[in-house]
This record gives sequence, structure tokens and C-alpha cells, in this order.
Amino acid sequence: MPLSSSPPTPLDVLGQVFGYSHFRGPQAAIVEHVVQGGDALVLMPTGGGKSLCYQIPAIVRQNAGHGVTVVISPLIALMHDQVGALHEAGVAAAFLNSTQSFEESSDIEQQLLRNELTLLYAAPERINTPRMRGLLASLNERGRLSLFAIDEAHCVSQWGHDFRPEYRSLSLLHETFPDVPRIALTATADALTRQDMIERLKLEDAHQFVSSFDRPNIRYTIVEKTDATRQLLRFIETEHQGEAGIVYCQSRKRVEEIAGTLQDAGIKALAYHAGLDAALRQQRQDRFLREEDLVMVATIAFGMGIDKPDVRFVAHLDMPKNIEGYYQETGRAGRDGQSANAWMVYGLQDVVNQRRMIDTSETASEEFKQVMRGKLDALLSLAEDTRCRRVSLLHYFGEDSQPCGNCDNCLSPPAVWEATEAARKMLSCIYRVQQASGISFGAGHIMDILRGKATEKVVQYGHDKLSTFGIGAELGEAQWRSVLRQLIAKNTVRVDTEAYSTLQLLPDARQVLKGEVSVVLRAQALGSKPDRRKRET
Ligand code: ADP
Ligand code: ZN
Repeated sequence: MPLSSSPPTPLDVLGQVFGYSHFRGPQAAIVEHVVQGGDALVLMPTGGGKSLCYQIPAIVRQNAGHGVTVVISPLIALMHDQVGALHEAGVAAAFLNSTQSFEESSDIEQQLLRNELTLLYAAPERINTPRMRGLLASLNERGRLSLFAIDEAHCVSQWGHDFRPEYRSLSLLHETFPDVPRIALTATADALTRQDMIERLKLEDAHQFVSSFDRPNIRYTIVEKTDATRQLLRFIETEHQGEAGIVYCQSRKRVEEIAGTLQDAGIKALAYHAGLDAALRQQRQDRFLREEDLVMVATIAFGMGIDKPDVRFVAHLDMPKNIEGYYQETGRAGRDGQSANAWMVYGLQDVVNQRRMIDTSETASEEFKQVMRGKLDALLSLAEDTRCRRVSLLHYFGEDSQPCGNCDNCLSPPAVWEATEAARKMLSCIYRVQQASGISFGAGHIMDILRGKATEKVVQYGHDKLSTFGIGAELGEAQWRSVLRQLIAKNTVRVDTEAYSTLQLLPDARQVLKGEVSVVLRAQALGSKPDRRKRET
């Protein structure tokens, strides 16, 4: 943007460069603060308009003679898109990344030194190269380093859901260039991640701009997994015929399988995971962005930085690691503000798998594992919760809210049953079995004993002689699984994935055994048909 006689205000830039008439939510305050040279930490949900929070200050400050804004962004694809959009708006922007030739990057460095750029995008690992540091230092000496914008700032925290070690060294930015203001932005960070982010990036004195994380147009639904593939087909066929969506699965193999199943059912679907070669991935991603009716079946390798406004649903066929991951992934639905679905199926096996991944990690410290288990439990509690999903989700991010009327639990309050007695039976069964045999057993065996099934294994260990044999015959297997999930979520039982997924009692089991806490459970699809029918008539 050319220098004019009176420097443009942020509002001028918003209108003249970006073609918008108003700032959205906290944008005006953030832009003002950053234009003045203040440090900022911005927490704003996906689609909230984070980019303008640094792009407008970059333009205003360049016009005021402060030089270039350096944007640190983790994804090359994202840089491409942003720089392309800025060029179209007439803003001098460029990126430096590993896809460029030596000549290309030298050319951009020259533009930088001639002060021709308003925004420079770079990956964090690039920032750390001696060459880049030298360049930044020489700009800084001439007062031509205006601002650092750190996008996806949660990547700096090992507690976040997308830790990138390269982000760690960004703390050096502040040490090396203490006078250059910084703005860090993220769409997902729970209290722990937030605190870690502040410490790592040395943003203790930054002004925090925390927007509501709520995405009112997204309808949250979490159902028990019975037959995931059939459930998914039914969901897409009844609610999202011919619409764009993302289906997340845990493994590459499953991604391929599910994509195939959807295709066989006449749904336009593609697979995406890190095992495909880069060109094919790019091609599929481009198709997803272009086409309105494509379902992408993917691992979590897909999605970050994908700005497609009309994604009508995000489905999880396997449970994510934690609420931050879930929220980030579901947040890709409905960026255009139109109604969208976040739909997940989950089961006991998901819990066991996630636990196993934490427990068997060879690189993680015990402290780290402990935190990850806690985060997994929080997600499990969300899944089992009978209250408004949005209230629970927002509460996790430190926000109070009222029941939303737009989630499965609000729209059709789940039938619940008083499961305190059942929980006690299960805990005492686990206890008795362990006492009697001196070793622990897995969920299937415990449920057989409870239900009074004299299987070969039950008889072999003499567990049909225990006082707890058959004390739970009134409930079906699905109900017992639900009881167990809830007990795991409540930290009373642990699945020991290092010992054949056996069940272990935790200290908190005592309270439940004594009847000091009550357990109320969702009536599960399989075990609760009578209840459901009652409600529907
Ligand atoms: P985020 O990075 O927070 O996910 P973006 O910066 O990509 O969000 O913005 C999301 C969309 O909202 C973009 O299409 C952007 O152009 C649009 N947008 C941002 N701010 C405004 C505004 N003040 N008025 C109108 N549209 C806006
Ligand atoms: Zn609700």
C-alpha cells in the first residue's frame, strides 16, 4: 500500500484493503493495541478472524515507518494461501520456506533489506537458521523489524495437542529482539496449555484477548459406538447427502477402509493420510477445497490450516486424544456460520487404545503421561456426560454458559439410570477376583462373572464360586461397558495397558464402594430400548 499524506487508520485499512466495513468482536481492540506496539496473546475460535489481527497492524505500522512484520506459521500450505490472498489485496507479502530455490529466497531477502515487504511468512525452523537470524538482526539495527506474529501458538506447548519442538526456540525472539512487539494467536488452549504458552514465549506481560470459544452453529453429538461404519453411513445419508465433510479415523488403514466403504455406498469420498505421497495429498486437498460435496476421510494429518467455509460436518469414528484435539478438529465445521454437525462415536475400545498409547510411550516422562491421562479422562467425561455438551466443552476452556439447545443432550435429554449399585457391584467384583486369584483380569472376564456366565476361564479360576458371581445378571453387556467407562472416567478404575489391559482399582474406588458418591449414567442404545421408546411416545 502506497504511503499517503495522512497515514491510514486501522479502519481505513480494513475497508480499503480487505473490503470489510466493521471489525468483528475484539478485532478493533487487538489491532489498536498491537498498532501501538503492545504485546498481545489472542485466543479466538477458528473462523473468528485472527489473521486481520496482525495483518492490519502490519500494514499500519509499515506505513508509519516501522518496517516488516514477520509471521511465524507452521504450515507451508497456509503460508501460500495467505500470501496469495494478500497479493490479491495489493499487500506486499512473501514467504520463505523449504520449497523455494536458493535464488528465490535470495530475491526475497533482498526485498526485505530494501524494505519493500509489509509481511514476511516463515516456518519456525527457518527463523532459527543463522542466515535468518543475521537478516533479522540487520533489519532490527535499522529499525525495520516491526512486529512478530506467532500463529498457532499452542504448538509451543508440550501440553497442547499439536506440539512442535521447533516452536520452542521462539522464546529466543524475545531475548534477541526485546523491543520488537509480539502477537501470539491460537484457537485452542486449555488452562494448562495457555499457561505453558505464556511461559515458553515469555508473554507474561502481554495483554490477553480471550474471546468466547463458542461456535453456536455447530451441533455436538456423541453416541456410543455400536457398528461405526453403519452408524456413519446412516448419519451421512440422513443428514448430509451431497455435502462436504471430514471423517477422522485413527489409523491409515482404517482411513482407506472407510473411504472405500463410503465410495461403495455412492458417497463421493477420498482418503487422506501421511502415508500418501505429497503430490497426491496436495491434489486431494485441492479437490476438497474446490468441491462442495466431497467427504474427506482422514487421519489428523489433515485439516490444520484448511480454510474451507462450507464443511457441513466433522465426524470422529475414533476418539481423539483430548478435548483440545476434539475441539480443534470439530472447529473445522461451519466456518461460514451456517449450521454444521460435529458427530462422534466412541466405545470402550477407544478408551483402551488411547490409554495404551499413553502408557506405552517410551519417550514420555511419567509426569507427561499423568497429564495426558487426565486430559483423556476429561474427554471421556464429556462423552459420558448427560448435561449440555456445549456447557461441558466451554467449561473445560474456562468459560461459563447456559444449556445451548443445539446439542444431542439438549435436543433429546438422554435417558439416565441410577447406576450407583451397579458401580459398586463392578468394583467389588474386580476387588474380589483380584483378592481370590492374586492377579488382575480384563473387562470381558469381569463382566462374565458379574453376569453369571460360567465360561471355561471363569470355571478354571474358580470364579464361579465367588460371592460376586452372577450378582449383575440383571444388566446386559452394553450396560456393564457403560458402567466401566464411567468408572474409568471417574478415576476409580484404571485399565492397565501394560498388563494385558487388566482392570485395577484406584484409591477413589473406595468412595463409590462405600456408597458415598452416586453414579448416574446415560442409558445406552443397546441396553435401553424400553426407556427410549417410552420417551418417544
Ligand atoms: P481464523 O484464523 O481465526 O480461523 P481467519 O482470519 O481465517 O480466521 O478469518 C475467517 C474469515 O472471516 C475469513 O474469511 C476472513 O476474511 C473473515 N473475516 C475476518 N474478519 C472479518 C471482518 N471484520 N469482517 C468480515 N469478515 C471478516
Ligand atoms: Zn446443549
